[in-house]
Formats: sequence, structure tokens, C-alpha cells
Amino acid sequence: MSRPRRRFWRRSSSSLPEQRRQNPAGDEFETRTVHAGQEPDAATGAVVPPITLASTFVQDAVGDHRGYEYARSANPTRAGLETCVAELEGAEHGLAFASGMAAEDAILRAALDAGDHVIIPADAYGGTYRLVARLYEPTGVAWTAVDHADLDAIAGAWRDETKLVWVETPTNPLLTVVDIAAVAKLAHERGARVVVDNTFATPYLQQPLTLGADVVVHSTTKYLGGHSDVVGGALVVTDAELAERLAFTQNATGGVAGPFDSWLTLRGVKTLAARMDRHCRNAMRVAQMLAEHPAVAEVLYPGLPSHPGHKTAQEQMRAFGGMVSFRLLAGEEAAVRACGRTRLFTLGESLGGVESLIEHPGRMTHASVPGSPLEVPGDLIRLSGGIEDGDDLIDDLRQALSDS
Ligand code: PLP
Repeated sequence: MSRPRRRFWRRSSSSLPEQRRQNPAGDEFETRTVHAGQEPDAATGAVVPPITLASTFVQDAVGDHRGYEYARSANPTRAGLETCVAELEGAEHGLAFASGMAAEDAILRAALDAGDHVIIPADAYGGTYRLVARLYEPTGVAWTAVDHADLDAIAGAWRDETKLVWVETPTNPLLTVVDIAAVAKLAHERGARVVVDNTFATPYLQQPLTLGADVVVHSTTKYLGGHSDVVGGALVVTDAELAERLAFTQNATGGVAGPFDSWLTLRGVKTLAARMDRHCRNAMRVAQMLAEHPAVAEVLYPGLPSHPGHKTAQEQMRAFGGMVSFRLLAGEEAAVRACGRTRLFTLGESLGGVESLIEHPGRMTHASVPGSPLEVPGDLIRLSGGIEDGDDLIDDLRQALSDS
């Protein structure tokens, strides 16, 4: 790749205070969220790196430039974000895109050719399903959707042409937990790659590359951005040759993260660990309350010992995340009504922001999958627990469910 790929601490240690240079003991996750890709500006000393809006960069002589030529190919603010997400996932190469879907498209394009086959989760994010089934299938890419909690189902779906297993864990919206290490072993024994959509967990809770995955994809729109004010996506890989191919795709198709979006995402990432701790704490309290509620048929939260993926989640995640789904005994119309009755939980799509959100997946985020193998139950409600006071969140849900 032509862009300057630099590593945290190693790359510009001359700009760091002497004490920190000698003792980079702060190379822990929380420290990386604040500093990786975000060193003070070398030219001015600005503590927060500037937003570089330039679309083109001066060349000192023809072909002799300072690492940047044209901002679709590389931009300093985007490069900072790319370094940061790579560092957070423990990888060498990060690429930032205009959305999570643009990132997904780039890896599918780079990893699959006509005639290849991909295995996706039976409860994949609806947009992933739409991309694979509606845009890639017509180009000759075959796909099968199976329950990824069941390794035998993945093995059973295997074909000679299988090149990729697309994992989401926990899944959106059913919060299925998938054993990343086991899927990676199975796929690698058969010569295929594993992509993990780490949007729900974030690298603070789970680092798929350390468990054997080949690629991590993020909708940075969610927890990494964290404030519901930016749409973005990212890919993280260790394989240099694949990174090269992805950088080529990114430049050729042009779905890059803009400088302001990159800056906003970097600003959000600084507080990722603190926010995630709070998201997880609130989600656990909400899940425990719902599990006792007489109107609730089932709570889907990996932190509850009753969740089928609880043990795997305990092993591969630091905590259980901020997302909670649940089903109402009274069915679909009651679920739709309850979604409209909350006062603090905002009715809206998306997730991972500081404010709590509620939605009805069957009619909102997953409306594009009815009749497909990915159809979600009509009585399902999905919550994105924010960082508000936990008692307030519980009171709000109690009142919304009071006559369900
Ligand atoms: N992956 C997951 C798990 C998601 O929830 C989403 C969006 O909701 C995406 C990918 C797509 O990301 P974006 O909306 O940023 O394109």
C-alpha cells in the first residue's frame, strides 16, 4: 500500500514526552483508545489531531510526495482512524469506509469470485443478508445461511467452493453467540477464511483476530463512534497481501470514510472503554429485570446464565455487551405497541450510542428479510442500552410493558 502505515508508540515516539517514551507501559487497551493514531499534531502541537480536508497534496517533485497524493487513496485523518482501529483489534492493517456496508462490500469483493460459496449466520444483520443475497448472488456467488451456534450445521453446509465463513457474534438481533475459535479452526482446516462482524462486541469486549479470525468488520456507526452522529465502517486484517487487495478495492471503488467522519469516530473511540463498561452494566440490569417480568416470554442476553451461548461468551468476551432482545408473550402487536410507549428509550434504528434505543426488528431493521431464512420473530423487541441511569431505564421499560 502506498499510504504510510505506522504503528502506535513505535511510529512517532519523538513527539511523546520523555517519560512515556521510555515507559510505554500504557500500551493497554484503554490507553490505545485515547492515543493510537491520535498523537499531537507534529506541526503545531495541537493535542487533538486536525481534520485534514484537503483533497490533494503538494508534491515536492513529480512523484515525490510526503505519503499523501489524493484523499481517496489516503488522507491523514482517515489514516489516524485506520491506525487506531487496527491497534484496538491487535492487527497491522486497518481500513476505514463510508459505512459498515461499504466495508462489508469491500471484503466480499476482495475475498469472493463468481463460483465461490459463503456461509452466513441464519440470523445475520439484515443488511449483510441483503448484500449477499441481492447483490452478490446475481454475480455467481452462492450462499447458505445456517445456525452458527451449531458447528455441525456449518460443516454440513460446506461445499468444495466454500471460501468464506461470515460470523457475527453476538448476532443482530437474536444475540446468538458463536465460538470464534472453533469456527476459525473448522474453516482453516478446509482452506477458507473467517470474517467476524465485531460491531456488537467492539474490540474492548472481544478481539476476534486473537481467536483465529482472518478479518474483522465494524459498523463504526455504532459503539466505536458511540454518539449516533456519524456513519462509518472499518476492516481490520493481519494478512499483508489481503490488506493490499483491500486497499486497492477501497481506492478503486472509493467508499472511503471522509475526514470529518473519521475525526468524529476517533473522538468517540477515546471513551469506548468507559462507555462499554456502562453499556454492559445497564444491559445486564435491564436483562435481569425483563427475565422476571410477567409479560416477557424470553430474554436474549448472553450475560444471563440461561442463554445458550453464556459459557462461550464468558470465555471469549470481557463482558456481555449493551444489546438486549426479548420476546413478548402477547405477540407481535403488543411488541409494536410497547416500542411506541417508552419515554426514555428512543424509538429508532441503529444502536451503540450513549442514548438508549428501542426498536421492532421485524418491522424496522430486519424488515427486508421476511420469508427468507433470516426472518425474525414478530414478538421480538431489541434494546440498545445507553449510558443513562440504570434505574431510569428499568422504570421506563416497566411502564411501557405495564399492560402488555
Ligand atoms: N453490521 C451490523 C452488526 C450492523 O448492526 C450494521 C448496521 O446496523 C451493519 C453491519 C452495517 O453498518 P452501517 O449501517 O454502518 O452501514
